[in-house]
Amino acid sequence: MADKSMIRSLNRKGSRSNRKPPVATRLPAPLDKSACERCGATYVRGTWRATRKLALRPGESVRFTVCPACKQVERGESRGRLILRGKYVGEAREAIERRIANVARRAAATQPERKLVSSEFRDGTLEVRTTSQKLAHRIARELCKAFGGKAAYAWSDDGALDVVWTRAATR
Ligand SMILES: [Zn+2]
Repeated sequence: MADKSMIRSLNRKGSRSNRKPPVATRLPAPLDKSACERCGATYVRGTWRATRKLALRPGESVRFTVCPACKQVERGESRGRLILRGKYVGEAREAIERRIANVARRAAATQPERKLVSSEFRDGTLEVRTTSQKLAHRIARELCKAFGGKAAYAWSDDGALDVVWTRAATR
């Protein structure tokens, strides 16, 4: 009988996307009552939470580690990508970046696995990458709400999201 894990790994290698599966699925689970030394997220009963509160019993201490999202950020590994185009992006870049930072901060306050990986402005185009496709989706929705423009979404087979947001000049 064929080895299923071998087939899976072959499929993965042969896939056209070079994005890796989410880090969380490849790492051994952290110990209960761990805390991320970078973002302060805590791991309790199988879930990472943004809260910094850990209920410790007397004599028990926090185990410090780095959460999967912070590891993703460190490796520059993204599951969501936004390309912001159009003359307006250059004109209102600061306001746009502020809005994105705001959305990301609010998302991370409840869901520590949603973080910004990078933001780069080049030749009039802003490219923003996120650890989760959900955060990229939320940012695009917020940009449309705040600034208008149009967003086009493209999900790849492995669930990663590419968004192109376009808005022409103010006048
Ligand atoms: Zn973290």
